Amino acid sequence: IRKIGVLTSGGDSPGMNAAIRSVVRTCAFHNIECLGIYRGYQGMIEGDFKELGPRSVNNIINKGGTILKSARSKDFMTVEGRKKAHENLVKENVDALVVIGGDGSFTGAEVFNNEYGFPVMGIPGTIDNDIFGTSYTLGYDTALNTVVEAIDKIRDTASSHNRLFFVEVMGRDAGHIALNTGIGAGAEEILIPEEDLGLERLLDSLKRSKESGKSSSIVVVAEGDKIGKNVFELKDYVEENLPEYDVRVSVLGHMQRGGSPSCFDRVLASRLGVKAVESILEGKSNFMVGLICDKVALTPLEQAIKGSLSIDTELLRVSDIMTT
Ligand code: ATP
Repeated sequence: IRKIGVLTSGGDSPGMNAAIRSVVRTCAFHNIECLGIYRGYQGMIEGDFKELGPRSVNNIINKGGTILKSARSKDFMTVEGRKKAHENLVKENVDALVVIGGDGSFTGAEVFNNEYGFPVMGIPGTIDNDIFGTSYTLGYDTALNTVVEAIDKIRDTASSHNRLFFVEVMGRDAGHIALNTGIGAGAEEILIPEEDLGLERLLDSLKRSKESGKSSSIVVVAEGDKIGKNVFELKDYVEENLPEYDVRVSVLGHMQRGGSPSCFDRVLASRLGVKAVESILEGKSNFMVGLICDKVALTPLEQAIKGSLSIDTELLRVSDIMTT
């Protein structure tokens, strides 16, 4: 191995820059070249490349987003697109690829590896924490802190006006952000895609909360909550059934994906980047690097993509007890 390519793909997340920096500097440490690939797989197809030396990643460890930009590439879903991408990598003498992204990006890497036997290594970068084979994905910890900070501010206005707020957080298929920020920000109820709380229970819980003397409440709702209603429909439903509540909605949106990465995410990115490059140098391919029991470990990409994930039910219980 003399040259490794690195790209960021899919939704961006805080810590991707720290991971790029780690990959670039680990390559330099081992005297191999590193090629930055812009705009994910689309840039690989279009030959949008830049040589990255250890000094080209100065002052990015603290920055959100990704200096390499990210993209979703329809062309890479086609045989012709991947052929062009492969030709470009061969032309640039790239011997292996590090893909920083989510499960879709890993699927692309796996398909590419199957077609061309091209060595690939994945680093999980997504705020959703929905990838098998790592306790934490890059950006998740930062997103939790961003969301808790935002909900704390909403709580100030909620309590001043005796209001109920439905706060929508990211998570179409995974409730990790909602569950953890809900507990961290002291939410009354938490609605997640994995568990159907039921509308009746939501109403009961809000009724009890009012009766117990609470004057304001926060309900954290994941985008893909199992109840099947979005935050605005929930607001209407609660206002119809509990007229004593003055309800507001706050959708946090893309702010959850931005911001300077937390120390945890920076350290995680640095560790995963070192492991990704050194695993490639040991001849490994088609793995994702992740954190298991606080140790950096490899999981086959196929498992990382397909492995089933479950929510920690202990957290649901803790949340219940905390709303007493
Ligand atoms: P996020 O978790 O933020 O959505 P992701 O990595 O899952 O991130 P996707 O948009 O699902 O994001 O995938 C990123 C890119 O990976 C796609 O735009 C496409 O180029 C590539 N990709 C995904 N699935 C495949 C596939 N089956 N074959 C080839 N390429 C794929």
